[in-house]
Amino acid sequence: MAEIQLKNVSKRWGSFVGVDNFDMTIADREFLVLLGPSGCGKTTTMRMIAGLEEATDGDIVIGGRVVNDLDPKDRDIAMVFQSYGLYPNMNVYENIRFPLKVRKVDPATHDERVMRAADMVELREFLHRKPAELSGGQRQRVALARAIVREPNVFLMDEPLSNLDAKLRVSTRAQIKNLQHELKVTTIYVTHDQIEAMTLADRVVVMKRGVIQQVGTPTEIYDRPANTFVAGFIGSPAMNLMEGTLSGGTFSGDHVSISGLSGPDGPVTLGFRAEDAAVAETGPQAEITAPVYTMELLGDATMITVKAGGALVSVKASKDYRIEIDEPVGLNIPAEICHLFNQKTGARID
Ligand code: ATP
Repeated sequence: MAEIQLKNVSKRWGSFVGVDNFDMTIADREFLVLLGPSGCGKTTTMRMIAGLEEATDGDIVIGGRVVNDLDPKDRDIAMVFQSYGLYPNMNVYENIRFPLKVRKVDPATHDERVMRAADMVELREFLHRKPAELSGGQRQRVALARAIVREPNVFLMDEPLSNLDAKLRVSTRAQIKNLQHELKVTTIYVTHDQIEAMTLADRVVVMKRGVIQQVGTPTEIYDRPANTFVAGFIGSPAMNLMEGTLSGGTFSGDHVSISGLSGPDGPVTLGFRAEDAAVAETGPQAEITAPVYTMELLGDATMITVKAGGALVSVKASKDYRIEIDEPVGLNIPAEICHLFNQKTGARID
């Protein structure tokens, strides 16, 4: 059992707060992703769990045991970093075996365990090569195998894919997901890439300036973002956000009027996703009529972006849809696809 509890954990350096009151429980065998922009405190949170950074406040509990005062090596955690941290003068076999030697695991078991880990990440044919003779993706797999071989209770992974090219990132991502499922190890994974977060996570924690913004399944975070920060961070493209006024259930702003909404009268931020809206004829039946700013061919769809006053708003049209820049276009934005946020605080309304 490796449930992890972070009880009001904070990290401060002088008056600077790197992580502010991080409070949540990570279930045994859960795949949790910490997501947020650079500097939001993801790595610091992870380093506190690992014991590489001391928490200023709060308790870290792993498998029912408070570990605040425990050395990293006594926490039963294996880590994988973006820089692979392999030993250049050892071959792949020796690199994978290294943690077993350090931990004085019975040497009679080494060979079987190294082979099993190497097989899991498809490295068997590279066992006698040195790291310098491997590609980036292969090196990252050695780092994964070295984490697996220990059979730890917890995996901590800090941007393990960021040094790989786009194609390798996708295949290694799938491999990590599959491994975690097979090994059933509680995993905390740090990334600033929302697609990585959405594809890997059981739950995602979105952070900003040291503060948790939302915790939820990828679907919850996508369908019901807790605030405009999360709405603007998740999705590709991110959610369209427009400022305006709600009055009697009708939202009015620059080039936009949407009726049938529910919420308190006053200034609000309205959001909707590009794929939920549709292009339409211009005219009173369209909720937005505005000139086209760009048209991008995505292969399976055409992205139309219009300039509605100060806001750029994107909509996905069919792959064959074509229109000229500056030509006016109508957009259908039914009330059911809209999200409303408090204009001052950014918090979701409802
Ligand atoms: P990135 O994606 O860029 O790695 P991150 O979300 O992992 O970012 P952290 O590395 O956790 O961010 O850093 C959080 C904040 O704490 C940053 O503003 C960083 O500058 C600050 N910070 C980190 N380590 C220290 C330190 N030793 N002393 C002072 N401030 C620090």
